[in-house]
Amino acid sequence: MRRINTRDFRVATRTTSREINRRIALNLIREHQPISRADLARRMSVTRGVVSVLAHELIEQELIYEGATGETARGRKPTFLHIRTQDRMAIAVDVRFSKTYLMLCDFSGRQLALEIYDTIFAIPQFVKDLAVRVRRMLKTQGADGSCEGMGVVVPGMVDHRTGLILNAPALGWRDVAIRDQLAAATGLPVQIENSGRASAQAQLWLEREEAAGTQSFIYVSVSDGVGVGVVVNGELVRGHDHIAGEFGHMPLSLDGPRCMCGMTGCWEAYISNLATLSRYFGWNLSKLSSNSLRGAGPDSFTVLDLVARARGGDAKANTALQSTARFLGLGLATIVNVVNPDSIYLAGEVTTAWDLIEGTVREALAERALTTAAARTPLRVVSTHEYPRLRGAAALIAAPTFAAPRVA
Ligand SMILES: [Zn+2]
Repeated sequence: MRRINTRDFRVATRTTSREINRRIALNLIREHQPISRADLARRMSVTRGVVSVLAHELIEQELIYEGATGETARGRKPTFLHIRTQDRMAIAVDVRFSKTYLMLCDFSGRQLALEIYDTIFAIPQFVKDLAVRVRRMLKTQGADGSCEGMGVVVPGMVDHRTGLILNAPALGWRDVAIRDQLAAATGLPVQIENSGRASAQAQLWLEREEAAGTQSFIYVSVSDGVGVGVVVNGELVRGHDHIAGEFGHMPLSLDGPRCMCGMTGCWEAYISNLATLSRYFGWNLSKLSSNSLRGAGPDSFTVLDLVARARGGDAKANTALQSTARFLGLGLATIVNVVNPDSIYLAGEVTTAWDLIEGTVREALAERALTTAAARTPLRVVSTHEYPRLRGAAALIAAPTFAAPRVA
């Protein structure tokens, strides 16, 4: 049940209902492709005639295409419908404290080219350099004409509508407007979003099988910082001032370790890669300033190395991982008690040790979750090989095609 907003609505017309049916068809095709018109009609509980009209309109809009012919016992052979993704391109950019990742991909998130380079912190240079790289990549790949936009994700809070980066502590960026500059320099439409939220969008829009069943979920990405995306009833929760879902900065303890945001005891300060490494090396995060926190951590030794040592029998490495796992589980319990999602997706380097830490995470979750059912919330690990944050950046460009039109 949803209340109609009498201050912001669009009156439904015949065009609206057709548009909604087209989007329903489009999403069913995306989930079940290749799919015949007859099968689509069955799934939509409408006649073949209605589906033929919808399919015709979607083909005209160049959102789907007709593929191979299927087999049938008798009568005319059906042609299958597919989503048009292969020749629709997007540029995806993931800006992190350590490196910037730049990818050219198609609308399904399939990688066509990838560049990884040291992040530039000065804004004018960042924009100039990125624009040069993007233009070069499009040219080299012959994608000048087919690229429909550029999605950029950052570790921080973003006003998605204006593209203003409100606060990205890891980058030292506050109230930074780069969207229009990037658009002008590349000639592409640009979307900017928080990396955790964008990853949640990708989970919602680019994944086919399991994600289709989950409408309310949490996406937690643990890396340099902690990014969280909250999806409720198929929609990303942004909040009144664009900071909803910033669970990374919920305090686990008021006198805990120092966080990049300037406070102490945030969840992020307990579970980030830096937190895990500092446990292993015995660094004292509380003694570091925010600036030196950003610079701390040797490039040469990462959480992946730590995981390798734990697997090799290094007890200290295992203890550091288990400690992170316990805090991860405790934080997840709070999220479960607040949002009660149908599942939680976990991404980041530490999840490569899932077989070592799953027990500890689940135990901590069960300890604080308020009901038995909540304690059993499914935890799904997202493979780090697929660059989930880049897929999130791509989803900023690809997903609007599939979204339901907004009416009352
Ligand atoms: Zn914090």
